[in-house]
Amino acid sequence: MKSQYQPFENAKAVIRKAADALHLPEETYRFLFCPERELTVSLPVKMDDGRTEIFSGYRVQHSSVLGPCKGGIRFHPDTNMEEVKALSCWMTLKCSVAGLPFGGGKGGITVDPSGLSEAEKERLTRAYARAIAPIVGETRDVPAPDVNTNGQIMTWFYEEYSQTVGKDCPAVVTGKPIEKGGSLGRSEATGRGVWLICAELMKSLGKELRGARVAIQGNGNVGGMTAKFLSEAGSKIVALSDVSGALFCPDGLDIAKIHECSLSHRLLSTLDLPGATFVPGDEGNRMLLEADADLLIPAAMENQITAENAARIRAPYIVEAANGPTTVEADAILDAAGKIVVPDILANSGGVTVSYFEWKQNMEQERWTLEEVNDRLYTMITGAFATVWQTAKEYRCSLRTAAYMAAIQRIINAE
Ligand code: GLU
Repeated sequence: MKSQYQPFENAKAVIRKAADALHLPEETYRFLFCPERELTVSLPVKMDDGRTEIFSGYRVQHSSVLGPCKGGIRFHPDTNMEEVKALSCWMTLKCSVAGLPFGGGKGGITVDPSGLSEAEKERLTRAYARAIAPIVGETRDVPAPDVNTNGQIMTWFYEEYSQTVGKDCPAVVTGKPIEKGGSLGRSEATGRGVWLICAELMKSLGKELRGARVAIQGNGNVGGMTAKFLSEAGSKIVALSDVSGALFCPDGLDIAKIHECSLSHRLLSTLDLPGATFVPGDEGNRMLLEADADLLIPAAMENQITAENAARIRAPYIVEAANGPTTVEADAILDAAGKIVVPDILANSGGVTVSYFEWKQNMEQERWTLEEVNDRLYTMITGAFATVWQTAKEYRCSLRTAAYMAAIQRIINAE
């Protein structure tokens, strides 16, 4: 039940479990339960029809122990402070497990962006940038894209922030288009990272990624790119969903064709693919999560695998491309059923890792080639996977507990 779902409580429960495995007394990690700063802002925005609407925006700086706070901004009708707090906490842990010199932050605006014109989105983004300008900055807190935000929104943010503080600050935000100081490889980095994690997982299990049957929930930047990299690596994407429903094809969907259509923002419901079956809405989504596949990749929103459906998940391996897709209760059910789950803070860390590369290039006025970016991403993400895999073996615990243990230990050492 969505109304009872408390994502920050979820995050705290996992932290507690990992800290117990490390035999840490609570006073050494309790600060992780208390974000350093929480800001709520009201954003009056002139709409195209002349009315003024007031939106609520948030920015939470969870921890700056490892460096400037880092994390995306989402535009979503369900966004609220509790969610942003959890997401910022996961960013702290993600940056830590990925080995980045960043702490965690997150922001959002409660809005359905599909109902806004481009001009309204621009005015909203600029209002938000002005409102949170006093607490962000290239060495304090660096936003980035997240659900329903993109390079264009980052550009408006960067321009408005620079105007507000009176100097050009490209490093105040990452995920910018290349011509605005973005990094090569950033837009596809999260999907590339998920693919690399799937490859490492299968290798560690002595299995083949080529030919593996994969179900992916979500066809946005993360899900869509993950599908593309995996299908290019020879996996069969047997199910893929978006807000309209899910497509199924036991022999593997034509991902190249779907990708091309997604570039012009077409929903899966509008595609006519030979051999594929479309199941609309929530039913399609339910069937996707319970699909007969080797790998299940939730790449949409949090709270998808819950106590209600966890026992019906058939895929033996789950790679969390979304943030927080699995509840604590569901995690226990998956664990007991012997499922192997690569947690979000590791599986989707490719995005923030290349954000770090973008920030570093901006700060040092450098330009890296795509090959350099991809090579460094490969080294960092496979290194992080190896550490977590090893920790899980050593402590005989799940990959989630192991990832949290590695992340917490690094933060405590730096505190
Ligand atoms: N929103 C992405 C995440 O959840 C990227 C954050 C970033 O690049 O700062 O990891």
